Amino acid sequence: MFHYAIVGGGIVGLATALALGNKYPGADLLVLEKEQDFARHQTGRNSGVIHSGIYYRPGSLKASLAREGNRSMVEFCRERSIAHDVCGKVIVAVAASELPFLDSLHRRGVEHGLAVKRLDPEQVREIEPHVRCLAGIHVASTGIVNYREVVAKQVDLVRSRGGTVLSETRVERVRRMNGTQVIETSRGTFEAGFVINCAGLHSDRVARLDGVDPGVRIVPFRGEYYELVPERRHLVKTLVYPVPNPAFPFLGVHLTRMIDGAIHAGHNAVLALKREGYNKTDVDWGDLFETLTFPGFWKLARKYYRDGIREMARSFSKRAFLRSLQRLVPEIADADLVPAESGVRAQALTSAGELVDDFLIVEGKDSIHVCNAPSPAATASLEIGHFVANRVPSVTRG
Ligand SMILES: Cc1cc2nc3c(=O)[nH]c(=O)nc-3n(C[C@H](O)[C@H](O)[C@H](O)COP(=O)(O)OP(=O)(O)OC[C@H]3O[C@@H](n4cnc5c(N)ncnc54)[C@H](O)[C@@H]3O)c2cc1C
Repeated sequence: MFHYAIVGGGIVGLATALALGNKYPGADLLVLEKEQDFARHQTGRNSGVIHSGIYYRPGSLKASLAREGNRSMVEFCRERSIAHDVCGKVIVAVAASELPFLDSLHRRGVEHGLAVKRLDPEQVREIEPHVRCLAGIHVASTGIVNYREVVAKQVDLVRSRGGTVLSETRVERVRRMNGTQVIETSRGTFEAGFVINCAGLHSDRVARLDGVDPGVRIVPFRGEYYELVPERRHLVKTLVYPVPNPAFPFLGVHLTRMIDGAIHAGHNAVLALKREGYNKTDVDWGDLFETLTFPGFWKLARKYYRDGIREMARSFSKRAFLRSLQRLVPEIADADLVPAESGVRAQALTSAGELVDDFLIVEGKDSIHVCNAPSPAATASLEIGHFVANRVPSVTRG
């Protein structure tokens, strides 16, 4: 029997395993991942940004864990020689109507204690010579990394400290028997004193397997990317973001230098017809049925159908996508863009039709469930791990 079993081998699961190992040295840890390898889903298919934490509502978990997480992720990479670059980013206003939002973002950055600087267009051009804008802000602490490399290192660390990390092991059922959590998987049954659910796109289902109603449904939103052809990478030096829509801070295509030198352009956010649906044609009728029969989905759709249509247009029309990018860098042309790998965001939605903005962690009996960990959860992962570990009691083996 294990002391702790963690479901999900993404960055949140592995960071939690490390934090639990630190809190309870000597505890037997088990990490269960259904795929052949780790970081196959959100963690391995994202923009690779170590966010600063500027966007998030003061007082939210996101704000504090992202700010601290930025520092701890950079330190983790530095100490383990993982390639990363704290290159900073610019957020730019391209229309007069965006200037008040840019100013409030600048104020928020200052309140968060970040190194933010208001820039005039000339100063923006010194950093990003091909950007055209009315004003911008520079956020110095934003960085880039390949989160797959972070996870590969975390797997090594958990194993080297005596933990058991299994791939190709899907959790199918959890039941409590004589004070023990019995976990039935595709590779047999395991017992643990306590279960920690970090199953990303399936976190609501895993919670329900454990008899916990998380009060939300995960709705998958695919984020699609293009990348600049190598000859045009010089158009972007670091990271260029538009001023976010306050209602949907995760919308708005941006330009991101990846740690391997590629420049990614994206991402949009369209409803995915499958939780792990990375292509437009991917459909899972069970997943779709669950989304469409959830009352919260229709409430959301009624409220925001215009934004939804705009995102769909950007998905099906390269020209619409290009136009969004040209608002930031007018020189980008159609021939400069080639499609790149997409990602799917696990977004918790309430039955009232509200997108859950903050991280959501739900406690069960002998279990804890991370039920909403969208961006910037990769950045914040080490801190989410501490936060969760602090809520996990000491377990003695039966
Ligand atoms: C397009 C996109 C761009 C993003 N960009 C950024 C960014 O630049 N910076 C940032 O900080 N964040 C970013 N994010 C967010 C970030 O990637 C996620 O918040 C983070 O990776 C979540 O990690 P996770 O471990 O919770 O989920 P995941 O990485 O999805 O891991 C969950 C794991 O659980 C496994 N699993 C599920 N069900 C079971 C089961 N029943 N049994 C066993 N295993 C199971 C899955 O196979 C998966 O490996 C982005 C997200 C997307 C989608």
